[in-house]
Amino acid sequence: MSRVSGITRTLSCNHRISISHAHIRRLSTQKDATTGRTRISSLYTLGVAGGVGIISAYFLWPDASRSAPTYKDATLSPSYFTPAQVLASEPCSHPDYRLITLGIPKQLVPSLEQTALSPIWSIFIKDDDIQVERPYTPLTGIDEEGRMKFWIKKYPKGEVGRWIHSKHVGDSVEIRGPLKTWPWKDGVWDEVVMVSGGTGITPFVQLLHETLLSSERRTKTRYTLLHSSHSPTELPSHDVLQPLLSHAQARPDELKVTLFVNSNDTSDSVGQSDLQMKRIDKPEIIRALSLEDTRPWWKRITSSSTPTVDSKRKVLVLVCGPDSMIAAIAGPFGRNMSQGPIGGILGELGLSSQQVWKL
Ligand SMILES: Cc1cc2nc3c(=O)[nH]c(=O)nc-3n(C[C@H](O)[C@H](O)[C@H](O)COP(=O)(O)OP(=O)(O)OC[C@H]3O[C@@H](n4cnc5c(N)ncnc54)[C@H](O)[C@@H]3O)c2cc1C
Repeated sequence: MSRVSGITRTLSCNHRISISHAHIRRLSTQKDATTGRTRISSLYTLGVAGGVGIISAYFLWPDASRSAPTYKDATLSPSYFTPAQVLASEPCSHPDYRLITLGIPKQLVPSLEQTALSPIWSIFIKDDDIQVERPYTPLTGIDEEGRMKFWIKKYPKGEVGRWIHSKHVGDSVEIRGPLKTWPWKDGVWDEVVMVSGGTGITPFVQLLHETLLSSERRTKTRYTLLHSSHSPTELPSHDVLQPLLSHAQARPDELKVTLFVNSNDTSDSVGQSDLQMKRIDKPEIIRALSLEDTRPWWKRITSSSTPTVDSKRKVLVLVCGPDSMIAAIAGPFGRNMSQGPIGGILGELGLSSQQVWKL
């Protein structure tokens, strides 16, 4: 148990979602990280220890979703697996990341009008070798031909990331979905600020693609994306970022993008106006929320009050990334994968739980 909890705590891409989905993810990681070998030792421990029966049984219970059937000719669905083909697997500038395109026959694409395919959604990819599944976010949704593109990181001891990286064009993998990560609703928010770390950017790429980039209609919502990666080579590849940066340049009233890196592993790029070498800190969030103190300096030194967000403001801050980043920006998740109170920088700025969502 403690080993499993340890693993879940070390995850660096905990894209958590609405409570039920977050729960799915936590369970999938906890159970799946325990591969067959671990399950046997866990069973042994269970027999010896006896007293932890209920808790262990919870994690050892057969996973109905993972053992769901596979149907070749039925529309893509969360209830069963659909075979998909690896159409492309492209290296990125950092060896831990790949852009992977999967395809299903176009007649198996669910009706694109279905709300299940409105942002933000993900699908489970099943590692056939050890029968585990993990959710991944199609960067630009699914097209009419049944293609989905993913930006996937592999971890040194991670199961599914390494497995999917090893797949070649033409190989078959099994997927099930779509599963709602967070239900976007048009016209509710005046401002949306997205804060991401690492592959935590993927749900925001999907959201921006669906709401801004693939639509001719203008939006009244102002979007800001603050994204952080360890280093420039670990940033999402050009194909992923360029459409966002181009839109931000063409329509600064609709989208602002600022990229952050902790350190520089390349001779170029750092120092550009859209790439900063630091963490996403309080001044950056204050700027993103347009809370800068514009009073003259002599008025500012006489009062040191922190600016706060009006609870009536229709602003939404979405945060997705490693646990440590989520905790620093928005406060940690609560017990049983609940959202927990709003803390961190956003808590100091007075944002309410109606204005923040931790993915
Ligand atoms: C809704 C959603 C969408 C997502 N979308 C994406 C996406 O688009 N792209 C993406 O890359 N990720 C995404 N993720 C994360 C993804 O689902 C996986 O969690 C991630 O790929 C890690 O899975 P894994 O099987 O490779 O690693 P796991 O086996 O789950 O391991 C994860 C971590 O634990 C460590 N670990 C594993 N075994 C041990 C051990 N025995 N001891 C100590 N540490 C260990 C690994 O080194 C790694 O750091 C998403 C998550 C969610 C919830």
